[in-house]
Amino acid sequence: MIKELTISEAGIAIVIEDLGINYDDRWVLRGFSLQVVQGEKVSLTGPSGSGKSTVLKCILGLLEPREGSINVFGNPVAGDAIWNIRRSLAYVAQEHELGPGSVRQAIERPFAFKANAGQRGNLNRLPTLMDQFNLDLALLDKETSSLSGGEKQRIALILAVLLERQILLLDEASSALDPENKRTVVDFIRQADDLTVLSVAHDAEWLDFADRVVHLSGGTHVKGVQQ
Ligand code: ADP
Ligand code: MG
Repeated sequence: MIKELTISEAGIAIVIEDLGINYDDRWVLRGFSLQVVQGEKVSLTGPSGSGKSTVLKCILGLLEPREGSINVFGNPVAGDAIWNIRRSLAYVAQEHELGPGSVRQAIERPFAFKANAGQRGNLNRLPTLMDQFNLDLALLDKETSSLSGGEKQRIALILAVLLERQILLLDEASSALDPENKRTVVDFIRQADDLTVLSVAHDAEWLDFADRVVHLSGGTHVKGVQQ
């Protein structure tokens, strides 16, 4: 069933309704629904293979669900609307790739697109953000390929902040961070009141700070599965 968004629901960032995804005739997820309010920080947990990354890919429009629907700020994730929707999303993955060239080039690249031109002035905030995330400014002149996993993750988060993305989708995005830097990132996100965060995470730092933890397990959200 696809529900129409009403004006009273304008503060809802993500609406997932009766999501069903299958690969090769095997349902990974079925009947999964979730609403995330604007500014809410939600952690998705569950065993490996329970469909956490799959949910994030569907929100990004990288994967088309077999059943159900996803709305982002009232817009269905389907067809051409996906490009517009992606402008409100930032996705940081476990093994995040920043693209070729130097870190500075990787950070500046998205601002060359017309869609992000309005945010170009935010690049002034880069030194402050690097400092906040415990990153040395000298890192900007290094090749992206030479960065550690944890450095790549923090640069990707900084980029999301500079682009003023309203929703952060984090897929084990702090897995390579040491405890101190994990705490820094969590604290930063916690004070960003308007930022909506859906994160796949296992560590206590994320589970403690989340407004809500949603557990995915073959069973909890799967109904009517054909055996
Ligand atoms: P999680 O992130 O919770 O570990 P995933 O969402 O990555 O789980 O995967 C859920 C299930 O879907 C797993 O059983 C995985 O093997 C399967 N899966 C994921 N991607 C594909 C694919 N492209 N083709 C076939 N099966 C896939
Ligand atoms: Mg995963």
